[in-house]
Amino acid sequence: MSELSGLSALVTGGTSGIGRATALTLARRGARVALSGRDEQRGKQVVAEIEAFGGTAVFIPADLRDKASAQALARAAVARLGKIDVLVNNAGIYPFGPTEQTSEADFDAVYAVNVKAPYFLVAELAPQMAERGHGAIVNVTTMADEFGASGMGLYGSSKAAVALLTKAWTAEYGPRGVRVNAVSPGPIRTEGTAAFEGFDELAATTPAGRPGTPEEIAEAIAFLAGSRAGYVYGAILPVDGGRIAI
Ligand code: NAP
Repeated sequence: MSELSGLSALVTGGTSGIGRATALTLARRGARVALSGRDEQRGKQVVAEIEAFGGTAVFIPADLRDKASAQALARAAVARLGKIDVLVNNAGIYPFGPTEQTSEADFDAVYAVNVKAPYFLVAELAPQMAERGHGAIVNVTTMADEFGASGMGLYGSSKAAVALLTKAWTAEYGPRGVRVNAVSPGPIRTEGTAAFEGFDELAATTPAGRPGTPEEIAEAIAFLAGSRAGYVYGAILPVDGGRIAI
């Protein structure tokens, strides 16, 4: 029996990068996976990859922007898989730039995808987990919510909100069997960061001296999602090559 067999997981942003690697990793360990994103073609491709090794996955298209879209995704995932035991709040956007050049629309979009959608996904799914007496939620934050960096305030502050929510939800749902934790990645090579200038230079400043891979983040997420992390509550696990340690 595989580590996560019998569990059903919802991975947001499962069409790309860290979310795609997480969907594949959870499915390889036996979980049935619902993965979401806006890009149907990439979503179906990930489902096909999972089915190719005998796993179970469904793609649920979702443009996460508000309570209604989060609720619709959560309900569709429960309808397709019967229940959700593991929620991975991974979908995120990370536009960088000077504060004075940030439009209100960009500000709202960052908080909508990075904070509001996870908030209302948890509002919908955590009570169901609590009713069954078990569940795991893994949020994806960032090393950039740990320090001040010019041009990264909007993104970093949105993830700092998620870091606090990780602890608040631990207080709220932990006593009813729902473990809420977060993984805080460093610089990871994904489709989303492929075009970043200075990425290798940034990664070279970490003790690891290199960028991380989506699979290295997925490994940490899978650990926190499963019973090996049964006594891990409210933790924010840096997987950042040591960047925030120094
Ligand atoms: P990515 O390759 O750009 O993928 C982002 C994912 O989020 C895609 O699957 C995308 O799906 C989904 N998404 C974006 N906007 C969405 C929306 N409005 N509605 C629904 N889904 C949406 O990103 P990544 O680099 O893997 O990052 C994943 C997470 O890790 C993010 O939360 C990010 O902040 C965090 N992180 C990344 C790094 C890094 O260096 N890569 C470092 C620290 C933290 P569609 O395109 O299909 O809509």
